[in-house]
Amino acid sequence: MKKLIAITLSLLMVMSMFAACGSNNDSGLSTAIEGKLVMATNAQFPPYEYYEGGEIVGIDAEIAQAIADKLGLELQIDDMEFDSIVESVKSGKSDMGLAGMTVTDERKESVNFTESYATGVQVVIVTEDSAITSVDDLFAEGANYTIGVQRNTTGDLYTTWDLEDEGLATIDRYSKGADAVQALKTGKVDCVVIDNEPAKAFVAGTEGLKILDTDYILENYAIAMSKDNEALYNAVNEALKELIADGTVQKIIEKYIPAE
Ligand code: GLN
Repeated sequence: MKKLIAITLSLLMVMSMFAACGSNNDSGLSTAIEGKLVMATNAQFPPYEYYEGGEIVGIDAEIAQAIADKLGLELQIDDMEFDSIVESVKSGKSDMGLAGMTVTDERKESVNFTESYATGVQVVIVTEDSAITSVDDLFAEGANYTIGVQRNTTGDLYTTWDLEDEGLATIDRYSKGADAVQALKTGKVDCVVIDNEPAKAFVAGTEGLKILDTDYILENYAIAMSKDNEALYNAVNEALKELIADGTVQKIIEKYIPAE
């Protein structure tokens, strides 16, 4: 009998040790992978996310790291097509989507958005000798330009609704912004509608292109999260709000986008 009690006791001790290991993160939050905060992104969007060496860096990567640090979780970044991010977050494969992602009503049907942490602008890239000199030219009566966009970004959605659906343009959709810019360079499209920061990076890296002075539309970037994990949503949103309030987010943005 004594032996049985001793075995039972030692079993219980081992079990409680395992239990302690299992909850070995400060957060107590349930995430896609135990103890990790999994960020979905598309690392083709400088300076928000891009590769440097083998590593994904940028504004979103640093904000995500700061959030993970606050929550006592390890950050894991999963690179995927921009088009797949909302689904990955919605299905719980990733915990949060940071991808210079614009808050839109359509996306809100699938995911929750945190507080906005940055603004973006859709701009128009043209060749230096382009006949297109302002955004209004795209909307002019009888206009029929071919516009390059990154698939399922807001540049795609807005030009599709505003122009293609009105019979004013043809939209060519590419899986990477850089490919749309390449199509402009080789004359396959007449202009590219894309977010201003990657636009600047692409234009700086390609001869003969410029960004029009007039903006297409102003937008807000936020973190996309699942609607089914309220505790995690609240924790991430609170952490983000603190990082905005104490100036951390601003500092990260200014590190990558020096004031002009
Ligand atoms: N801001 C745009 C959007 O949310 C583009 C984002 C991106 O290409 N990473 O659709």
